[in-house]
Amino acid sequence: MSDVFDALVGQDRAVAALRQHVRHPVHAYLFSGPTGSNVNDAVVAFAAALQCRQFGCGTCESCRKVLQHVDPDVHVAERAGVSWRVDDLREVDRISRRRPLGAGYQVMIINDIDLTVSGAAPSAPALLKSLEEPPTKTIFLLTAEEVSDALDTIVSRCVEIKFQAMSEADLEEALRRDGASAEVAQTAARSAGGNLTRARVLVRDPSLGDRLDTWRSVPEHLKGTASGAARIALEISSAIDAAMAPLEVMHAEEIARRTREAKDVGLRSVGNRKEIEAQFKREERRFRAEELHFGLSVLTGVYRDRMMTALIELEKSGDSTEGRAHYRVSSSLQALDILVETNDRLSTNIDESLLLVDLMLALSQL
Ligand SMILES: [Zn+2]
Repeated sequence: MSDVFDALVGQDRAVAALRQHVRHPVHAYLFSGPTGSNVNDAVVAFAAALQCRQFGCGTCESCRKVLQHVDPDVHVAERAGVSWRVDDLREVDRISRRRPLGAGYQVMIINDIDLTVSGAAPSAPALLKSLEEPPTKTIFLLTAEEVSDALDTIVSRCVEIKFQAMSEADLEEALRRDGASAEVAQTAARSAGGNLTRARVLVRDPSLGDRLDTWRSVPEHLKGTASGAARIALEISSAIDAAMAPLEVMHAEEIARRTREAKDVGLRSVGNRKEIEAQFKREERRFRAEELHFGLSVLTGVYRDRMMTALIELEKSGDSTEGRAHYRVSSSLQALDILVETNDRLSTNIDESLLLVDLMLALSQL
């Protein structure tokens, strides 16, 4: 029999746990897993299952309302900034104490609970209090990308449902189910780094193949001049700009869809539009960083292949000290070191174009 959990490809363990829990739910769950592991879809599916008399049939009125984000008893908590502040969590506590309007539960969804004020533990007493003394008909669904020790006090009050990065095969299957062709699904799945959200953007991106070629051809286009290096850096920046387009279109479509659904049930506007837009901005920033990571991994693959080919040549010719093959091995090794360094710098919030120019300059001097 099909249900709301069917669409959650590649997360069999988590889904089995959710199917069990929905019959005897506790008051708080923490959904944890890396970006793109389908955590957000799972939260919505679980909320629908909680409200459904048949534990998530996916077709009844209760299920449909939750899946269309218009059930007034399912709240997505909003935060004012990038991270959670005490004031935001007080508001969450206030809402969580209401009685549900319908016959089901009041579900409070609090996303990214790992994002707290300046890295401090989310010991916001307000949230802990809600989790400690939960109103009887309220169920909290929290999400976190990473569960650090700082979250201990929160985790100990929840049942944790763990999600994993998705395998290429699972990504491909999910994309095929969405309607992508085999070839497109395969290329997107390979370039998505286990992240379904990213794979769904890439599948709509006709320039993915060109972008792959741009990265792959970097070594042959570097001619040892600074101006050449700067030109390639610029070319890559523009390619990343173009890569953002499908995501921006998807976000606009999502807002339009939610507005339509809200109007269909007589609401004047989408309830938590500000939160949705803030989340989309975060997704766009993240996508850019992922694109850069992806490009660096493609380039790493190119230099690794070069080194392997040169090593094989060296072995065949017996040339151990000089010659072209020897030079290619050592320059590829240096390139790989530069790429490791660049990857490290990426996590320091460095300006993207500066990073690219530095990288291309360093590579062009090999
Ligand atoms: Zn249902």
